[in-house]
Amino acid sequence: MRIAVLSRNPKLYSTRRLVEAARKRGHEVRVINVLRCYMDITSNNPTIHYKGTELSGFDAIIPRIGASVTFYGTAIVRQFEMMKVFSVNESVAIARARDKLRCMQLLSRRGIGMPATGFAHSPDDIDDLLHEVGGPPVVIKLLEGTQGLGVVLAETKQAAESVIQAFMDLDANILVQEFIKEAKGADIRCLVVGDRVVAAMERRAAQGEVRSNLHRGGSAQLVKITPAERRTAIRAAQTIGLNVCGVDILRAHRGPVVIEVNSSPGLRGIEQATGKDIAKMIIEFIENNARPGRTRTRGRG
Ligand code: ADP
Ligand code: MG
Repeated sequence: MRIAVLSRNPKLYSTRRLVEAARKRGHEVRVINVLRCYMDITSNNPTIHYKGTELSGFDAIIPRIGASVTFYGTAIVRQFEMMKVFSVNESVAIARARDKLRCMQLLSRRGIGMPATGFAHSPDDIDDLLHEVGGPPVVIKLLEGTQGLGVVLAETKQAAESVIQAFMDLDANILVQEFIKEAKGADIRCLVVGDRVVAAMERRAAQGEVRSNLHRGGSAQLVKITPAERRTAIRAAQTIGLNVCGVDILRAHRGPVVIEVNSSPGLRGIEQATGKDIAKMIIEFIENNARPGRTRTRGRG
């Protein structure tokens, strides 16, 4: 097969691993920087050009779209879908996952466990919103933050109000969330490929930190997940419509709660913690599922 990895940096661990796994299985693979793709959308015949030549003949793409290029990146993925190229994750699903509010709304509709979460526009509603999510301590998050940046724990009402006010003054979209204290700074990253959780790790926050992100100094180790956690991760992935993703779960007293679904999960942490060849599993998923035009949305939406 001919596979394209959409990534801005061929040297990144995840990109390198996907290229290596695809080659090992006899595929032709190319790394493509989405920001250098440009499109002709005027005609009936959708095309993508790249550094002066037309891109064609791909059987599948693996989008690894960074958070800072979501808008342009998903437009390019959509264009590939219009060209009937199979995408491991579809553009619509990536956009759903990127917007934490949209993601939470979709998960809530299916009754999937999540922290009580509120969203407001007007500073006048902060007080009531804090009350609605159970009062402080609360977690305040930028809607499009990643890697733990843009996540703040406010322990008192005063702290919460001033942080929310500051974000609102900057016109930043935020959500306010119940703080799951009993998780003790740890979360479970479930790596979903197809309709299975193929690996799971527990990430622990560094001393004095509530965010367990590896980018924030968290450490990872292999963990055995419960059947309820497994079910929750799979349902969350299916609800958002992602074939490959990282579902982040906190262990709350009331059971597993989903805090995030990541459409471009990093492979380094999870491969090292579990010793599993996730890149190979993603390539096998493509082998079993990629057919021309086999996208649910065909670039719509
Ligand atoms: P990001 O997209 O920046 O990774 P997350 O929503 O995943 O944002 O939050 C980052 C980290 O903060 C999580 O991995 C978790 O350790 C911690 N965290 C996030 N939300 C909560 C919460 N509601 N209760 C307790 N800890 C949380
Ligand atoms: Mg996260």
